[in-house]
This record gives sequence, C-alpha cells and structure tokens, in this order.
Amino acid sequence: MKRTQSNDYFKEAESIFPGGVNSPVRAFKAVGGNPLFIDHAQGSYLYDVDGNQFVDYVLSWGPMILGHAPKDVLEKVQDALWEGTSYGAPSPREIKLGKLIKERLPFVERIRMVNSGTEATMSAIRLARGITKRPKVVKFIGCYHGHSDSFLVQAGSGVASFGIADSAGVIPEVARETIALPYNDLDALRTCFEEHGHEIACVIVEAIAGNMGLIPGHKEFIEEIRRLTTEAGSLFIIDEVMTGFRAHYQGAVGLYKVDPDLICLGKVIGGGFPVAAFGGKAQYMNQIAPLGDIYQAGTLSGNPIAMAAGYENLRLLTKEVFDHTVEKTAYLCQGIRNLAEKHGVALQVVSVGTMFGFFFSEKPVLNFEDSKQADHQLFAKAHGLLLQEGVYIAPSQYESNFLSSAHSYEDLDRTLAAFDKAFSQL
Ligand SMILES: *Cc1c(COP(=O)(O)O)cnc(C)c1O
Repeated sequence: MKRTQSNDYFKEAESIFPGGVNSPVRAFKAVGGNPLFIDHAQGSYLYDVDGNQFVDYVLSWGPMILGHAPKDVLEKVQDALWEGTSYGAPSPREIKLGKLIKERLPFVERIRMVNSGTEATMSAIRLARGITKRPKVVKFIGCYHGHSDSFLVQAGSGVASFGIADSAGVIPEVARETIALPYNDLDALRTCFEEHGHEIACVIVEAIAGNMGLIPGHKEFIEEIRRLTTEAGSLFIIDEVMTGFRAHYQGAVGLYKVDPDLICLGKVIGGGFPVAAFGGKAQYMNQIAPLGDIYQAGTLSGNPIAMAAGYENLRLLTKEVFDHTVEKTAYLCQGIRNLAEKHGVALQVVSVGTMFGFFFSEKPVLNFEDSKQADHQLFAKAHGLLLQEGVYIAPSQYESNFLSSAHSYEDLDRTLAAFDKAFSQL
C-alpha cells in the first residue's frame, strides 16, 4: 500500500503543528508508523491522499453515526450556510435541536449547548461545585472527560495511550480536589463516600467506559453511585459524550435506566460539527447564568450551521436506523470472535449498541488495570495488518470503535476477511 503522500504531508505538518497533529492520538504513536492524511470520506469509507480506500470504524471518534457526508444532512447544512454562519444571538435552529434531544431523552429538562465535550464536562462540574459549595470531584481511573485540568488525573484515551498518569501543567491545588477511584469497584466507592462524602460536589462517570477500551460499567456500580450521591447531597453526572445516541438509543441512561442529575453530550449530537451540551434537572441547570450565578458562555455556542447539522443528523437517526446499526455491530463482533477462536488468538470482543472494542487478553477486562495488561504490542501489529487490508480501526487499544448506518454487510464481510488474514499472521 502506497503511503508516500501521507508521509510527505506528515513531514510538512510536523513543521507546523507539534507532532504533526492537532490532537495527540491521531499521531499513531501507540501503534507505530505515520498517520494517514485523509483526502475525503464518503459513507463507510475514508480515502487517504494516496488514493487508498478504508472501511472506517473510527468515524471521527464516534460522531458520524450516519456515515460520512450523508446527503440529506449536507443539503440542510448548505441551506443554512446561506442564512449566515454565526449570529451571537438566539435562533430557532437551537430550539429544533434542543427540543429533539429533550424528546429523545425526557429526563433532560434543561440543556446548554457548547462546542466540545471538554467544555460540557468542565462546565458541568463547575455547576456541581457552585450548587453544592463543595470542592471535590470523584472520577474513575481510565475514564476520560476531556482535557480540562480537573480531569487530567489518571485519565483514559490519549492520556492513557501516551502513558501520562497526570498531565504536567495541572497545579497540585487543582489535581488534589479530584479523587480518582478504580472503575467498577463498589468497595472503593463506598469507602470514598464514608471518608469524603461531605466534601464531594459530584461523581462523574462514563457509565459505559469507552476511553480505556470499551468497558461497560456494572449496573450495581452505577446504581450505587446514584444511591451514595443522593445520600451525600452530591450531584451525579453521567458523561455521555461518547455513549449518547451510541450505546443505546437513549444512551447509557436508557440502557441502565438510572436517573442522573446532569449528563454531558457531544460527538453524535453535532453530526461532525463542534457541538456538545450538558443538561439535566431544571433545578440545577437553572443555576447557571443568566438565571443563576454560575458562569458559562460561548461565542459560537448554538452555532446555526452546527445546529442544522446536529438536528438533521439526529432526526435521520430513527430508532429503526439505530437498531439496524446495532444488529450490524453484533454481526461484526461475533464474526471477529469466531475468527479469534479459529486462529487461537486470545481476544475479548466487547460491543454495546453501535460501539465495539477488543482487548488482546485471556480474561475479561473490567477496569483500567486489566486494560493496561492487555497485549498492546499485539494490538499494534493487528492494527498495522488491518490497515494494510483496508480496514481503519482506532490506533490504540484504549479507544473504542464505531459502526454507522452506512456500513453494509459487504463492508463487514470484507472487514472479517481482513481480520482472518491479520489473525493468521499474528
Ligand atoms: C470525547 C470525549 C470527551 C471530550 O470531548 P471533546 O469534544 O473531544 O472535547 C469527553 N468525554 C468523553 C466520554 C468522551 O468520549
């Protein structure tokens, strides 16, 4: 497979951007080699600048649930463009997307649009701290909630891929207020509340963790967070930036039937544009400015083009379209399991809704420790072999993979053939 042009672009990019990229995991450091530079994308495919075609399971790290460049979404975006690209004033487009999210997720009583998942989680914990007048935030080791200071403590995603336990540049006074507990560990959670309950502003969790590989939270674990936070007067925040409209039609909240105080959304709700949101119970959300004294703002928040894209994307993501995508995900994962067995490869394949992941591991992976112990070298090798066969999966075992409604069974069979070949060479 020719990579000349990608390699040339990467060289040039390195003279402009640190490490040649604008977000770390894109650099392919966890799997070796240079990243591919993308020329264009259509449906389930990515095309790189050398003209290679790939079946894409990264999908911009989740957002493109209808596949790339869906015609109906693009048409609405084009229409919107001619009406101006940003107003800095309210517009009906915000209402359309906000209303649709509320219809699909009825527990969200009030919502605020922001521009990235990082902003959503950062603002949600400020809200929790402002409401409770308490300093501490509880998160779980290996969960990723964006790159704001409070969350760069034992985080997942790129932070894990690069082996950075705690980012430099985060002052100890801030890091100290973040308590990081092992995921799926009821005892640690209970002990933490016994010792610190009165200081805890909130617990934030990826109820289905997607940034240390894909690891679903146990239902009792999620329910215990709800119970303990209620008892302690802390807020319960579910970070659904990745899982919203992905893990289940109603996200992790729908899957577990829990009742969080706040949730964070992102990725799918923007359909490939920079949109995220946080929302939840009105009694809490109404404490942000302009109604309350907890400040949060954004020049481009509720951007009309992004709202048009997000609305059309979600509107087209009907329950039926979603369910078909879930079926395809299950088909692919069962196929991969069968092939691992055929080739004697120790592999854990995990799927939830339209998300999937795998660990080169003998035993099931329940938390970040297990995920770290999976064979990352073997993953890197498999990643390279799959790429060679035209299959683009996330370039780190700590990342989840995704399906879109545009993936055909033909794509899936082609992918399985690539896995068959890759496994035979491991
Ligand atoms: C991607 C992600 C974020 C951060 O979103 P950005 O838009 O990259 O800032 C936060 N939380 C979770 C669970 C995510 O997957």
